[in-house]
Amino acid sequence: MTYVILQSCCNDASCVAVCPVDCIHPTPDEPNFMQAEMLHIDPETCIDCGACADECPVDAIQLDDDLAEDQRAYLDLNAQYYEALPMTCTSAVDNPKPWRTDDFSDLRVAVVGSGPAGFYAAKDLQTLRVAQVEVFDRLLTPYGLARFGVAPDHQATKGVTAMFQSLGKKKNLHVNLGIDVGQHISHAELLEHHDAVIYAVGASLDRQLGIEGEDLVGSHAANEFVAWYNGHPEYANHQFDLSGERAVIIGNGNVALDIARMLLANTDHLEKTDMAQHALDALQNSNIREVVVVGRRGPAQAAYTNPEILALLSHEGIDVIIDQTEAATDDITQTILDDRRTESSVRAKVRSAQEAATRIASGARKRLVLRYLHSPVKFDGREGRLDSVTLVRNRLELLEDGTVVAVRTSTTEEMKANIVFRSVGYRGSSVSDVPFDDHQGIIPNLDGKVIDPHTGEPLPGVYVTGWIKRGPTGVIGTNKQCAGQTVDQLLQDHLRGDLTAPIHPAGSVRTLIAERCPDAIGFDEWGRVDTAEQAAGAALSRPRVKFVDTESILVAARGLHDR
Ligand code: NAP
Repeated sequence: MTYVILQSCCNDASCVAVCPVDCIHPTPDEPNFMQAEMLHIDPETCIDCGACADECPVDAIQLDDDLAEDQRAYLDLNAQYYEALPMTCTSAVDNPKPWRTDDFSDLRVAVVGSGPAGFYAAKDLQTLRVAQVEVFDRLLTPYGLARFGVAPDHQATKGVTAMFQSLGKKKNLHVNLGIDVGQHISHAELLEHHDAVIYAVGASLDRQLGIEGEDLVGSHAANEFVAWYNGHPEYANHQFDLSGERAVIIGNGNVALDIARMLLANTDHLEKTDMAQHALDALQNSNIREVVVVGRRGPAQAAYTNPEILALLSHEGIDVIIDQTEAATDDITQTILDDRRTESSVRAKVRSAQEAATRIASGARKRLVLRYLHSPVKFDGREGRLDSVTLVRNRLELLEDGTVVAVRTSTTEEMKANIVFRSVGYRGSSVSDVPFDDHQGIIPNLDGKVIDPHTGEPLPGVYVTGWIKRGPTGVIGTNKQCAGQTVDQLLQDHLRGDLTAPIHPAGSVRTLIAERCPDAIGFDEWGRVDTAEQAAGAALSRPRVKFVDTESILVAARGLHDR
């Protein structure tokens, strides 16, 4: 028997630390860890002790005997990792942190952003027990993308918030919700009240395609739709025209697959999730029967991860259609597959696309069409509304550095659609008075230490973690290692005496906030909101019913909600 890691793997490597036989890889010490799609258990080495399954925050680990039929592909996915990459490294358990708690007894740190990146950083600092941590978020609800990004049908992934929730009870960690840094309190003021500030503000803006028709009604950024179906208060009133039969999604990353699943899912299933009620209502009335996901390169370069595509390929009630010529192995793909250094995840993507391309459609009412080797060239409309998408066929070209790029051919096709989602990645936005790299959409940094872009020198006491540090890559648990690196830098700087002590007494920042922001709430008030949401959900056999407007959240936070 062996344990198997499944689709909801969050990569936070909690399992690695408890495995007594070092059979889960990549570990955070291995070079490919930060790029890993998921972690894998070596079936040959696993001793079935179950320690990993007990530790996993998102219930992603199961015994092979207990796998459902549609989960058996993950057994192969785990094993194939070890066929390609025999184990060499030692476990992170052998590498305990060297910190002495007493060295940090007067340390005060502000963490801006309460998503996974911010909370993982806050947790590392809180664990020192003596450091004082103030977390700030501009929204009245915590957890960032774990609340507003993770798809509603991935409830297990949201399980990571239980760990963050327990942090809210710690004496040396305080959460301030509804505080916009840059508006309610400045960067300079935060530094006057703390030894250091860590920015974990994510990357919430969409990237542009730069093509004609991008601004037509019916052309939406992926982040707008994701925030809408997840009940983000700033997107709750957005409208999406789901009256047509086809939706097109440009880009084939995991966000594109999330959107495709939401558009094609059986709403009976979504009714059991925490999807915002307005989105459920709209999807119940949706006419969309076909979603076309357009990738500009081939299956070997698809941006989605194997756990996600495997889940979609076995999705009940949806025919997945792939054109055999688009999934075929061309010379460049063959060269990649022949290269022994090619990762097992790349081989798995080619294999799954080619296998799906040979399937005979069952005639299901809903279809997911996965296109490869096509880019959008323009969106056309009538009277300002989207009417069609023009795609151009690409061929692959292998550059000297090993990168595979899409090169346009002269073959184009027009596809009728009145809704399109541009799912081509996210970018960060700037914070007042903090350097910003507009080209990359991140705060410039060296391993988490924010640098002055003109001199390249670190700015004392200013740090960064998560997507605003490294760009929008990785899954939730990737942020744990990312935050660990940033916090290590901060603690080393503190020990070296490189941080400037705050000029205001401990706790005075809360007085300042109370004066400027009477509607700000703390974690206790958030606890009331959480309880009210869960109670409303319990009545409907749902995990929660989210409040989607500021007024309702404040009413619940004050304990005045009576639903
Ligand atoms: P992503 O993985 O970076 O995918 C972006 C996609 O857009 C790629 O297919 C990319 O193609 C394409 N693209 C970029 N520019 C384009 C252009 N000008 N024309 C056509 N296509 C273009 O981004 P994402 O899907 O937004 O995901 C962000 C991160 O969140 C990822 O790390 C993802 O794994 C993670 N995430 C994970 C989950 C999950 O685990 N369930 C769910 C959601 C998000 P190229 O590859 O050719 O550049």
